[in-house]
Amino acid sequence: MTRLLIEGGTLLGLTAPADIESDTDLLLEDGRVRATGGDAGLLAGESERAGVPVERVAARGRWVLPGFVQAHLHLCQTLLRNGPDDLELLPWLRSHVWPGEAAHDENTMSVSARLGIAECLSAGVTAILDMGTIRHSDALFEAAAAAGVRYTGGNVLMDDPATTPPDLRAPAEEGLAETERLRATWHGKENGRLRVAVTPRFAVSCTDALLRRAADLARDRGLVVHTHASENRSEVALVKERTGLANVPYLDAVGLLGARTCLAHAVHADAADFQLLSRRGTSVAHCPSSNLKLGSGVCPIPELRAAGVRVALGSDGSACNNLLDPFREMRLAALLPGVGGRAGALSAFDVVRMATAEGAAALDLGGPAGFETGARADFVILDPETGWSLPDDWSAEPYGAIVYSMGRENVAATVVDGVVRYRREDATVGGLKPEPAEIRGAARTLRERIRKD
Ligand SMILES: [Zn+2]
Repeated sequence: MTRLLIEGGTLLGLTAPADIESDTDLLLEDGRVRATGGDAGLLAGESERAGVPVERVAARGRWVLPGFVQAHLHLCQTLLRNGPDDLELLPWLRSHVWPGEAAHDENTMSVSARLGIAECLSAGVTAILDMGTIRHSDALFEAAAAAGVRYTGGNVLMDDPATTPPDLRAPAEEGLAETERLRATWHGKENGRLRVAVTPRFAVSCTDALLRRAADLARDRGLVVHTHASENRSEVALVKERTGLANVPYLDAVGLLGARTCLAHAVHADAADFQLLSRRGTSVAHCPSSNLKLGSGVCPIPELRAAGVRVALGSDGSACNNLLDPFREMRLAALLPGVGGRAGALSAFDVVRMATAEGAAALDLGGPAGFETGARADFVILDPETGWSLPDDWSAEPYGAIVYSMGRENVAATVVDGVVRYRREDATVGGLKPEPAEIRGAARTLRERIRKD
């Protein structure tokens, strides 16, 4: 049994902008919210008198809010950052990312995952939705288990010989059997923090038969589906050429759209697609840095949300961002509607919700929300007195400060499942971040293998 008392923080519940309680204790027990306010302190005292230890975290003057959710990530690409910077999606995939993913062994995958997870935890991220890659998926789950982060991911599905390289391809039978094996090995483990998703890479990389079977598997097993869709114009044109349908209707036709599906990007989806996503209850992971860096375009988020689609935020991979930092994504997400002269089209509160509660819903992490009793104990503690923000005596609401002024330097601690998994004082993220020599060695190994191909 774990008990954690976060003392005297300002609790931002995020159910509504005014859902703020100052100077309030929060007691977490076995990964869930047990009590807030006076009850929290009383119960903690009773526990200690009964000989059950309670870990205490001082949070006076700090803001406690539901943890950030990375709703689209490729942990297998952390060592591929700082590669070519000036390519569009398809040439970038073919020349850099796919050879890089194919070059992994178990050790390089482990280093890549541990480094990426450490980067996420140190930026206040408590939950990740990961695309995975074709091999060495166990190394991703092992790293997530060791780090204590909430991880949903799978082995990426790619089987079409016409569009994928031979060393990063698996026949449908093999790919789906691997998903099943991962499910049997990892799904629900670590107190439910680890979950397996069905992750076809995108419509272009998969045969029609594979996509349909992937949809059946996800439905039969109740698994989250994660895929890319309508990221880039050439990709959309290729889907149309191959299937005769636009991308989003095609994913619907093969059965992949549903309430447990999270699509990354949807940059080139249109109003009819938005309506379809809304009807199916499908979420979109908005990845503004990645979309701009690959020259993909900008997803019209205010319109997407107005159509009733749930929108989460993601960094995408380190190879196309090149940071795993929810603060950068929040800032860009809030600013981009301004390109069309629409200042304030997306409020700072809405953006913080996208990065937290809506992200959790996109990952199908249900249950009580915020600081309700029984809510999942995944929180970030922000210190407004660090960096260049202002102290905790705002005259307006705090959301603008989080979105526009704060950064990862303001993260004092990250709590997942009721356990502190990152403290700012501990620069190595609890020993999770690999040593520089290990990172250098693994990155060099990958680079040499890519060059040989
Ligand atoms: Zn991606």
